[in-house]
Amino acid sequence: MRPTGILDNMLRWGAERAEGAVDEVLDWVNERTLRLAVTGLSRAGKTIFTTALVHNLIRFPGRPQILPAIADFDNIISVIERPQPNPELATFPYLANLEALTADPPRWPPSTDQLSEIRLELHHRPASWLRRQINRQAVLNIDIVDYPGEWLLDLPLLDLTYEAWSAKMLRLTEREPRRRLADQWLAAVASAKPAGPADESEIRRLAEVYRDYLKASAEPSLGLTLIQPGRFLTPGHWDLQSPALNFCPLPAPAGAAPSRRSLYAAMASRYEIYRSRVVGEFYEKHFKDFDRQIVLVDLLRSLKAGPDAFDEARETMATILASFEHGQSSLLARLGLPWARHRIDRVLFAASKADHVSRSQQGNLESLLQDLLDRAGREIKAKTIQTKVLALAAMRCTADRVAEADGHRLSVVVGVPVGGSHERVLWTGEVPDRMPARGDWHEDDYRFIDFLPKRVAPGAPQGFEHIRLDEAIRYLIGDRLA
Ligand code: GDP
Repeated sequence: MRPTGILDNMLRWGAERAEGAVDEVLDWVNERTLRLAVTGLSRAGKTIFTTALVHNLIRFPGRPQILPAIADFDNIISVIERPQPNPELATFPYLANLEALTADPPRWPPSTDQLSEIRLELHHRPASWLRRQINRQAVLNIDIVDYPGEWLLDLPLLDLTYEAWSAKMLRLTEREPRRRLADQWLAAVASAKPAGPADESEIRRLAEVYRDYLKASAEPSLGLTLIQPGRFLTPGHWDLQSPALNFCPLPAPAGAAPSRRSLYAAMASRYEIYRSRVVGEFYEKHFKDFDRQIVLVDLLRSLKAGPDAFDEARETMATILASFEHGQSSLLARLGLPWARHRIDRVLFAASKADHVSRSQQGNLESLLQDLLDRAGREIKAKTIQTKVLALAAMRCTADRVAEADGHRLSVVVGVPVGGSHERVLWTGEVPDRMPARGDWHEDDYRFIDFLPKRVAPGAPQGFEHIRLDEAIRYLIGDRLA
C-alpha cells in the first residue's frame, strides 16, 4: 500500500472513531434514564400511585391543570408509555388498572404482590442552554419499579445475625395483639428443643405455624407493619416450599454453643441462605440501581388501629430508614467504592390516602409523619439520605364539605364507601400532629373508612383527581428535566 493510502485509511479510521465518540456523547446528552422505585407495605397504595402517576403524566402535555405543581414544566412535549427495558421482569399492568378504575361502576384493581416495572419516555426541550445547543429535543426515560415494601423491610437483615433477629421477633410477641396471634407458634417453640438434633419435618412445622402467625398479623385492620421475613407472605419468584423460605426465629439455647447438627443451627443456616440469596439478590439486582424512592405509608390505618400498632409503625419506619442507610455507611462505601453503595439520593415518605380525611386535617397528617420520621432518624442515627414528607392521595375519592353539628362547623369528607352505593358524609376525627401518648387514644377516635373511586369519563382524558401527586412528581423527577 502506498504511504498516502495508509494515511488515508488512518485518517478515515480516526474520523469514524471520532464520529462514534461524538454520537455516544450526543446519545448520552439526548437520552437519560432515571430509575424510580415505588414501595410501601401491602395495601399502602403502590398500585394506585403508580397507575395515577403514569396516567397523569401521559395526559399532562398541553393540560397543565392536571398537575399544577409542575405546570412550569411546559418544556415537556410528550410522554409515552413503553414496556420495561428488562424482559425478565413483569410489566406493571397500567392498562388493566386503567380499565378497572374507569369502568362503570369503577373498581379498585388488584394490589401489588411482586416486582413489576414500566417505562415512561418523556420527550422534552432541554431547559439548559448548553443541552439545547446540542439537541433541540431530549428524552428522559423514567423506569418505574413497583415492589412490595416487605422486601425493603428485609434489607436490615443483611446486618443482623440470626440470634439478634430472633430476639427482635420474639420481643414483638410480648405485646398485643401479637401475643394472641402468635399463640400457636410460641407454644410450638416452647416445646421444641433448639439444642436437640435437627429434624426436617419439625423445621417445616415450625416454619408453617410461624407463617400462619405472620398471615394473621398482616390482616389490614390490625394495622401491624413489621412482617418479617417479607418473602414469607410475598415470595415473588421464590418457591414457598424452598428451604430458604422455611425457617423461623428461635430463642438461643442456654449454655454451650449448639452443635452443627442442632435444630438451632439448621434454622440459623436457612436464615443465612435467606439473607445472602433472597435479600442479597434483591439488593444487588434491584435496590442498588434505584435513583429515587417513594415510600407510601398508610399512617391513618396505624392510627386507627391504636397505640401498639402505631408504635410498631414507628419501629417500621426506623427499619425502613436503616434500609436506606445500608451500604452507605459501610466502610467500603465510606472509602468511596461505588459498588458498595446504592445510588438513591432522594427518598419521599408519603402518607397515602390523604383524601380519607378533610383538607383541614391533611397538614396534621403530614406533621405526624414528619414526627415519626424524625423519631426513627434519631433512633438509628440516620445521616446520609435526603428525605421529604408529604400527605397525598394519588386518586382523590372524596370531596370536602363543611357541615353543622350541635352549633359547630365541622370539616367533613363526602364519598361512596367501599361496599356501598350512596355517598356518605363523614367527620373522621382530629388527626394529631405528633405521635400521641398512649393515654390519648380513645375508643372510636378515628373513623377512617375506604371509599370507591369516583366515576370518570372513559379513559379519564383529564387525568385522575389527586392531592399533591404533582408535588411528589416535582420532588422525584423535577431536577432531571434540566
Ligand atoms: P398496594 O399496591 O398493595 O400498595 O395497594 P393499592 O394501591 O392496591 O391500594 C390498596 C387500597 O387502598 C385500594 O384498593 C384502595 O381501596 C385504597 N387506596 C389506594 N390509594 C388510594 C387513594 O389515593 N385514595 C383512596 N381513597 N384510597 C386509596
